[in-house]
Amino acid sequence: FDMFVLAFVEKIFRPTYRKDDLVLGKKLGEGSFGVVYRASLAKKPSKDGEIVLKRATEYGAVEVWMNERVRRACANSCADFLYGFLESSSKKGAEYWLIWRFEGVATLADLLQSKEFPYNVEAMILGEVQDLPKGMERENRIIQTIMRQLLFALDGLHSTGIVHRDIKPQNVIFSEGSRTFKIIDLGAAADLRVGINYIPKEFLLDPRYAAPEQYIMSTQTPSAPSAPVATALSPVLWQLNLPDRFDIYSAGLIFLQMAFPSLRSDSALIQFNRQLKRCNYDLVAWRKSVEPRASLELRRGFELLDLDGGIGWELLTSMVRYKARQRISAKGALAHPYFDREGLLVLSFMQ
Ligand code: ADP
Ligand code: MG
Repeated sequence: FDMFVLAFVEKIFRPTYRKDDLVLGKKLGEGSFGVVYRASLAKKPSKDGEIVLKRATEYGAVEVWMNERVRRACANSCADFLYGFLESSSKKGAEYWLIWRFEGVATLADLLQSKEFPYNVEAMILGEVQDLPKGMERENRIIQTIMRQLLFALDGLHSTGIVHRDIKPQNVIFSEGSRTFKIIDLGAAADLRVGINYIPKEFLLDPRYAAPEQYIMSTQTPSAPSAPVATALSPVLWQLNLPDRFDIYSAGLIFLQMAFPSLRSDSALIQFNRQLKRCNYDLVAWRKSVEPRASLELRRGFELLDLDGGIGWELLTSMVRYKARQRISAKGALAHPYFDREGLLVLSFMQ
């Protein structure tokens, strides 16, 4: 009944959009299953302001479903979803059009590329650059704040039963309105509680950030069960397979890239992945192999993670592990002593 009332109230009050309401602007991205544009609303005066439009192929149906679910269950985790609809008048055949609020100009990938990182993020979070001493402690606090926000968003998704499967800096956006990081791009996400777990054959998980297990559920798991059965069964399957830990591995690699400037480029990350594989995905073994002849920059990364008795390194090694079940959960990570000390003051106040 509640769901019925909610749907009814939404139908009356929630703005809906059509193709003609939208004026397309600059192209922001192009993936295998859609093109993303910045856009604005043609005439409708709206509080929604600047928006982002994704024109997706038929696989967009899953992305609409995921965004609707997030909107109801954990809205703060992801970019604000406004509306999605099937647009059949396009020349290329049916497309799904998805609309979000324009959250801001910078993804974490953009911010990581700057020589100023992580101070450029501090400036965005706090509004103006504070005239405080800069040093490793301070860098660590900023990175800690970003990690807390990312894990907070992931915990929201995972508690809802959604695994993202494409967590990477390009899919983490800085929301200028809330001054926090949010997750975007639910195109590869799986909703295990209702059995929506659809990845087309031609979709490849991003190898730069993917955990070593290729499939999120073991191959013994019956595929795509019908909805009522899945609702009853999937909490058990979730416990058995811990599919959420796939995202944790990816988030661990983001943590690594924040701590080590020399691992921020694609080629360096790919090389790191090769080295880690050779060490059987054992970060401690990797450290032993590279530390003796490490560059100053690499050594500085270890030094940062070694602050406060090595609590950052401890968290990192709990996230990046070969076996999914040995990785910490998002909730577990948020309770990790790494986050005991406050990050940036404004943020602990806002959250
Ligand atoms: P894909 O990776 O499939 O092309 P994304 O959903 O990741 O699609 O969007 C592509 C890019 O568009 C993002 O990397 C980001 O730069 C930008 N973008 C997506 N959603 C938003 C949003 N809500 N606000 C601002 N920029 C966005
Ligand atoms: Mg993306």
